[in-house]
Amino acid sequence: LITAVGLQKFFGSFHVLQDVDFAIAKGEVVCIIGPSGSGKSTFLRCINQLERIDSGYVTVDGEMVGYRRDGHRLYPLSDGEIARQRQAVGMVFQRFHLFPHKTVLQNIIEGPVGVLKRRRTDCVQEAKVLLKRVGLAHRADAYPGELSGGQQQRVAIARALAMKPKAMLFDEPTSALDPELVGEVLNVMKELAASGTTMIVVTHELGFCREVADRVVFMDAGRIVDSGTPGEILENPRNPRVKNFISAVL
Ligand code: ATP
Ligand code: MG
Repeated sequence: LITAVGLQKFFGSFHVLQDVDFAIAKGEVVCIIGPSGSGKSTFLRCINQLERIDSGYVTVDGEMVGYRRDGHRLYPLSDGEIARQRQAVGMVFQRFHLFPHKTVLQNIIEGPVGVLKRRRTDCVQEAKVLLKRVGLAHRADAYPGELSGGQQQRVAIARALAMKPKAMLFDEPTSALDPELVGEVLNVMKELAASGTTMIVVTHELGFCREVADRVVFMDAGRIVDSGTPGEILENPRNPRVKNFISAVL
């Protein structure tokens, strides 16, 4: 569903992604782990066109992102086309980025009504279903400031799902939360995974990786250093850098 081929990304002279090749199939859950600064967030941001790629390319559902190929030439897409492509991929960040002056329900229908121009009544119905799914049916009229961090993150997940994305990207969705609130967010993500959602999850929650991931990818210094089943990467890491990282996180 999503592929990255020979991705290169520089910040000035700093080579943050070095020849990254990656693929995720429909319905697959891939967890990305690795030390701080290894390029995990940048990789997700390149998939979702929040960062420009310097070389290589990304495809989502068979379509190259950001460019149109014509013979041997690549032409940049228009802003409208890029916006359309970005809607195909939902993203959840460490910080929740909800609109503080809108209620939970208004936050969720903002995209489908405001951007997709769908009928408000339909979107409200769907938003209520999504809120039930994330366990917040009773908080539809609350403002984000009235919710706990875990609740806000669950709203952020529902808001991303309201756009009916083909895949979901999570960038350390629980690392800004108090420890007692982590589980409720991970449970929602487990339910999403079980229902067949294609997910790329950057996380330090190795228990979640072990339980939910089809595949775990280890990044270090801008490269994918190792990748395999949770058993291969987490239980019996062959790569010494992976081994060091895992013993440091546990
Ligand atoms: P963390 O676990 O801390 O979130 P990460 O693996 O997500 O780390 P990135 O955020 O992708 O790492 O950053 C990779 C490197 O690129 C870091 O050294 C970071 O300082 C640098 N970097 C990230 N964004 C920018 C930017 N906009 N301009 C310059 N350097 C950046
Ligand atoms: Mg990061």
